[in-house]
Amino acid sequence: MHKKKIIKTMGDISETLTPSFARAAMEMNVPKYEMPESEMLPETAYYLVHDELMLDGNARLNLATFVGTWMEPEADRLMAETLAKNLADKDEYPQTAEIEGRCVNMIARLWNSPDDEEAVGTSTIGSSEAAMLGGMALLKRWRQRREAEGKAAGRPNMVMGINVQVCWEKFCVYWDVEPRFVPMEEGRYHLGAEEAAGLCDENTIAVLAIMGSTFDGSYEPVQEIGAALDRLQEEKGLDIPIHVDGASGGFIAPFLQPELEWDFRVPRVQSINASGHKYGLVYPGVGWIIWRTKEALPEELVFKVNYLGGQMPTFSLNFSRPGSQVVAQYYNFLRLGKEGYRRIHQASQNVALYLSGKLAQYEQLELMTDGSDIPVFAFRMTEAAKKSTNYTVFDMSERLRDRGWQVPAYTFPKNCDHVAALRIVVKEGFNRDLADMLLSDFQRHMEWFKAHPEHKPRKSGHSFRH
Ligand SMILES: *Cc1c(COP(=O)(O)O)cnc(C)c1O
Repeated sequence: MHKKKIIKTMGDISETLTPSFARAAMEMNVPKYEMPESEMLPETAYYLVHDELMLDGNARLNLATFVGTWMEPEADRLMAETLAKNLADKDEYPQTAEIEGRCVNMIARLWNSPDDEEAVGTSTIGSSEAAMLGGMALLKRWRQRREAEGKAAGRPNMVMGINVQVCWEKFCVYWDVEPRFVPMEEGRYHLGAEEAAGLCDENTIAVLAIMGSTFDGSYEPVQEIGAALDRLQEEKGLDIPIHVDGASGGFIAPFLQPELEWDFRVPRVQSINASGHKYGLVYPGVGWIIWRTKEALPEELVFKVNYLGGQMPTFSLNFSRPGSQVVAQYYNFLRLGKEGYRRIHQASQNVALYLSGKLAQYEQLELMTDGSDIPVFAFRMTEAAKKSTNYTVFDMSERLRDRGWQVPAYTFPKNCDHVAALRIVVKEGFNRDLADMLLSDFQRHMEWFKAHPEHKPRKSGHSFRH
């Protein structure tokens, strides 16, 4: 009965003269779990959805995410103009396909792809899809090599730090690869070179090295891992490739640490992924993967489709994908150039170093990293403060929400699960002035806890580490 009434009035054309917020749908129960029977005015639907989304966090105060939350208005406009383009229709949208190819070339050079080797690569929906593609190529190559040698190829493994992003755990489960995790130790919060080499055997498809651990923003020592694997090859004859997960660092290191050799300059590095939508400075929906050579990407994995006219090679998990993110990536490359990227990331790093330096001055806190790799740092309570205060990092994370700051608190994995930390990701759009406001809120909350001795510290939280 009630339902019928909504159905009738929501689509009533006579409503066009009614003021926006006096329309029937604004006063009634909007159906949420069953599609409405009839139409409503576009403007009414717009406000209903728009207003509901006001309850989401403010993206610019989201210091938890690595993902782009700001782009220039010109980029917004280009994206709006290209929303209807399907990246999969390479024959219909040849210029979008051409632009994707240009981006692949620019990124391969940025990562020092050797001139005498022909790199190949593709855009993806993000680093997670890129990880699946990179992992699949490594798995296939290992299998082909084992079969050619007449050896068993049934029990592949991949060696990685326990700090991997969840996409690598997914890769291992989806493709039946045994993940060999190197645990952390107090003072080493990511993969160590010797520890990685120590877990390798003839069934190891690759060692994964992360440029920008999500736990603390630190770089893993790619060059040292390469050297440890060189020694392993000399001693045991095992030739193990490296894949670099540069989800965030892939677009930081080339600009802020150009001397650091983590990319194709390290001969064992076969493939690298990065998220265009993290420090590539695009909104969510674009990642990249580059292989060192054509041989690094077994051709069995590349499909040639002709449904759309023309023969187009594709290597991806999905087919249709928005073209606008790739267009926006190209816009940034043209607009900013290397110098523009360097200046934006340097500004972020300066803010990260400033903020971590200020927080380190509190005797209750200690830094785990300071933001000098990627502009991301993690910090925790000192052992003494854990005993003498009535709050934890989880309390702090929760209270910072009172003005909209989103700063995640989380525990570390094996063998550091006694560590609970807060993490701050600084990126384009977060400036020194905002950092000072965050600091003063931090101070205010510390004073609040002091003034409320009855407060019971929280032992865990509900915030989320990306
Ligand atoms: C963010 C991240 C991923 C996942 O990337 P998406 O682009 O979000 O799919 C993988 N690895 C690392 C190190 C990351 O930081």
